[in-house]
Amino acid sequence: MQQLANRLERLGTETAFSVAQAAAAWKAQGNRVFPFHLGDINIPTAPHIVEAMNRAIADGYTGYCPGPGIPQLREALAEDLGSRRGISFSPDNVVVMTGGKPVITKFLQAVMNPGQEVLYPNPGFPIYESQIEYLGGTAVPYRYLPTSEGFAIDLDQVRASITPNTVAIIYNDLQNPISAESTAAEREAIAQLAQEHDLWVLSDEAYFETRYEGVSSSIASLPGMAERTVILYTFSKKFAMTGSRLGCAVAPLEIAKVLSTLNTNDESCTTHYVQWAGIEALRGPQEPVQHMLDILRGRRDAACELVNSIPGMHVAVPQSTFYLFPDVTDAMERMGYTAVGDFATEALYKTGVSFCTREHFGRRQPGEERQYIRLAYSGIDVADIRDGLGRLR
Ligand code: PLP
Repeated sequence: MQQLANRLERLGTETAFSVAQAAAAWKAQGNRVFPFHLGDINIPTAPHIVEAMNRAIADGYTGYCPGPGIPQLREALAEDLGSRRGISFSPDNVVVMTGGKPVITKFLQAVMNPGQEVLYPNPGFPIYESQIEYLGGTAVPYRYLPTSEGFAIDLDQVRASITPNTVAIIYNDLQNPISAESTAAEREAIAQLAQEHDLWVLSDEAYFETRYEGVSSSIASLPGMAERTVILYTFSKKFAMTGSRLGCAVAPLEIAKVLSTLNTNDESCTTHYVQWAGIEALRGPQEPVQHMLDILRGRRDAACELVNSIPGMHVAVPQSTFYLFPDVTDAMERMGYTAVGDFATEALYKTGVSFCTREHFGRRQPGEERQYIRLAYSGIDVADIRDGLGRLR
């Protein structure tokens, strides 16, 4: 009998996509669905970016191109990302990829041997846990503690979890799913631990510019950090380009070279004409970015107001990302639910409101008692937010 590879037992996935499937099936049966499940964006990519992509196709940029990306895009990325972070990057530090997600796998392939440990945020983007384990490492979670303003990393747990076998820490400031944002002190504490223990850092900056107040700051800009940090950057969220699959790693030169070779092995290159659209996104008009943020801010306000009007649900108003991560423990208790998955399933079938829960973002840690759901408001208009969450209430 033919067999599949043993390592597949360790492969996780992004289960938000199965929630999307359940919602689509319910909709196909003629039911109304309010989609809060996926961090996709129902605002189209700006016309000038689409035109640049079409022009590139018409001009014949449809063949292979260099593995680490076309020089013009690498240059634009080094300039844009460097200036927004106060760091001087060379185009050689930039490796273009098919979105932000491949940076996670390739970073781990570059720095982690089987049996070594990597710290990762939990709840967090589920691909961290999946890929660490798939590649034979040990995924060591660190938690966030609720505060009056949102959430803060449990630094004591991070400290206690580092062993001589730890090689890296994954850090996602402006966090999915909980929208946590580090204070400067928290960022410095993580940087200090990384230096003390000689760890690599994957700084997932997918939402660096998806923020409503203030400006973001990268851990890579702290003294001694650029040489040990790989930045994950993506066009997906900032430019509403989720399906175009364009992102990059910005990495110290020795890692950038390895990432480029991994690209050549895995994809040959990132889609050639999409890279020209990326240059236009970075260098062209920036008004659509602000316009999208204004729309998202209106949705956030509507969603927070409604969530906080539901007895037994609570969320602090986040200043970044497009996710809410309300504590629903008391609401579930009032209605007699013990499993958050049952709560989500019944919410879909009784109200049409579709969302992920804490269970979609890495395995639960011991002692974790509160129940949370994640509401993504990037793919749903204000009127439907009010209608859907009104029904949920
Ligand atoms: N990192 C985080 C925290 C994300 O939320 C996502 C997407 O939702 C990604 C990485 C992957 O981004 P991309 O769609 O560009 O691959």
